[in-house]
Amino acid sequence: MAMKDVPDNVFMTSLDAAASWARSNSLWPMPFATACCGIELMATASSRFDLARFGAEVMRFSPRQCDLMIVAGRVAMKMLPVLQRIWLQMPEPKWCISMGACACTGGVFDTYAVVQGVDRFIPVDLYVPGCPPRPEQLMAGIIALQDKIKNGGTLNGTEFGKRTQPTGPAPFDLDELIRIREANEKLVALN
Ligand code: SF4
Repeated sequence: MAMKDVPDNVFMTSLDAAASWARSNSLWPMPFATACCGIELMATASSRFDLARFGAEVMRFSPRQCDLMIVAGRVAMKMLPVLQRIWLQMPEPKWCISMGACACTGGVFDTYAVVQGVDRFIPVDLYVPGCPPRPEQLMAGIIALQDKIKNGGTLNGTEFGKRTQPTGPAPFDLDELIRIREANEKLVALN
C-alpha cells in the first residue's frame, strides 16, 4: 500500500515511541515523603492543583506498583537502607524525582546524620529545587520528566543500560581508620 492510500484516520509511529508515550502519560508515583516537602507533595494531588490532569496522580504505597519515586524531604542516614530497598523493589522502567533542597543536597541540614543528596545513593532523573518547592514546581518537574521519557525510548532499555547505581562515599579503609585512631590518641595524650 502506498502512503497516499493510507486513510487520514490512520496514525503511524514506532512501537518504541508508542510505548514511551504511554509510559510517560501513566506515571504511578511512590511518595517517599519524610518532612515538610511531603505536605507540598500532598497538595499537588489535591483538587486545587489536580495532578490527575497529567496522568500521574495514582499514588501507590507498594513499590511493586510504582514507576516514579518522589523523594520529598530530608532523608536521615538511618532511613537510607529503607529508601534504597524500596527503589530496588520497584520494577523497571522506573524514574526518580528528588524534590526540595533537602532531598537534593541535604539543604540546611549539613550534618553527618542527614543524607547530603539522595543522588549519592539512588539514581535521580530530575531535581525540583526549593524549600519547599510549590506544587506548581513539582508539576513542572513531572511534565519535564514526561518529555524526557517520551524522547528517551524505553522499549529497548537504552536509557537504563547507561544508568549507574551510585553507591555513595566509600567507607574508610582499615589504614585510614588506624591513622585516625592514632591521631585521636595523640590528641588525647596532649590534653
Ligand atoms: S527542603 Fe525545606 S521544606 Fe523541604 S524538607 Fe527540607 S526544610 Fe522542609
